[in-house]
Amino acid sequence: MRFRLLLTLTAVCVAASAQTPKGGTQPPPRRPRPTYEHPGWKPTPLQTAMPKTSLKVEEHKLQKAKFPAVEVHFHGGFLRAPADYQKLISIMDQVGVAMLVNLDGASGEAFDQYLKSSEPYKDRIITMARLNYTGVNDPGWTEKMTAELERCFRAGAGGLKISKELGLDLRNKDGSYLQCDDPRLDAIWALCAKYNKPVVHHVNDQVDRFLPIGPENERYEAGLWRDNASENYYQTGQPSFEEINKHREAMFAKHAKTVFIVAHIAHLGFDLKRVGAMLDKYPNFNVDVSAAIQELGRQPHTARKFLIQYQDRVFYGSDGGAGRMNDLDGFWRPHWRYFETQDEYFDHPAQLLSPQGAPLHGRWKIYGSLVPDPVIRKIYYQNAMRYFPAAKAAMPKHLAARGVK
Ligand SMILES: [Zn+2]
Repeated sequence: MRFRLLLTLTAVCVAASAQTPKGGTQPPPRRPRPTYEHPGWKPTPLQTAMPKTSLKVEEHKLQKAKFPAVEVHFHGGFLRAPADYQKLISIMDQVGVAMLVNLDGASGEAFDQYLKSSEPYKDRIITMARLNYTGVNDPGWTEKMTAELERCFRAGAGGLKISKELGLDLRNKDGSYLQCDDPRLDAIWALCAKYNKPVVHHVNDQVDRFLPIGPENERYEAGLWRDNASENYYQTGQPSFEEINKHREAMFAKHAKTVFIVAHIAHLGFDLKRVGAMLDKYPNFNVDVSAAIQELGRQPHTARKFLIQYQDRVFYGSDGGAGRMNDLDGFWRPHWRYFETQDEYFDHPAQLLSPQGAPLHGRWKIYGSLVPDPVIRKIYYQNAMRYFPAAKAAMPKHLAARGVK
């Protein structure tokens, strides 16, 4: 099994590096994740879109965010030519997003290309660096990668993005899984603290992905893995949900000076009391709400209390990318409706939809939490201004342009 996985991973890497870059300046595509076998799994029929409701209630279909927002979790791997940036910025203007953090800034030459192409738009787009794990088990990887990250920070990276291959896919020499509290990463987290660069940190995954595939599994019922079981981790030999959490908490404790903005409410949006306890315990732990509005919106009262209590620690993000970017009403705007209204029983902005339009991250509707304005301001932009100097510099102009005092 392990051998097969390694082979798959190697094959994938080779395939990725063999692709011809367009015009010679195209950064490499993100490495596809390996697939895992799920013996006995049989897909059930595709779900249709959600049924049309007969409910008649007040609706507030907001066009723009009430205050200019800083989107801290966006996948802008497609941003290369000026036209790509201009298209994205025109969408941001239509929905009220003032600034956006592109998490797909890569490292090395690809990073340089992203940074260079984003330069004319630096009051709108912030580019993050990533780690390159090639050779992570070879001596000297830490020194090499730390030097490269330092170069990216000095060149203008807004921070570092970590994705879930750490914890779930990357292996140590002995075949065990590389976790985020591994000593090889200590120098990386310390460097982020030294340069005051936030880490948008995504390890682990939806808890349902670790549960058996079947109709009782919320994510499966919603439609995830209905035609492909590869991102379900049940009995694949990968680390458990709680094991990955344990390593993440050890990292928070060990690197108290490093600011972590943990993606998707740390995948714990289903248990906000637990998130609150962690926020109390680790002052360097923060969360973004990307791809998690469906969790907040199905518990609007609990979530409202949570957002008010932890208003300094929550960041707006969407997890958008090329896929849903053009869907203004279905993707961007329901975020505002969730924070700014008390609307009832409306579609959440699931970042993944089936071809039939079914929300793959929760087959349910949501309710607005109507959060007070001072809290919305923090979540939309003030918290981001604390950690992203580019936002601190440019936001006064964006606020003035919207007439926001
Ligand atoms: Zn993401």
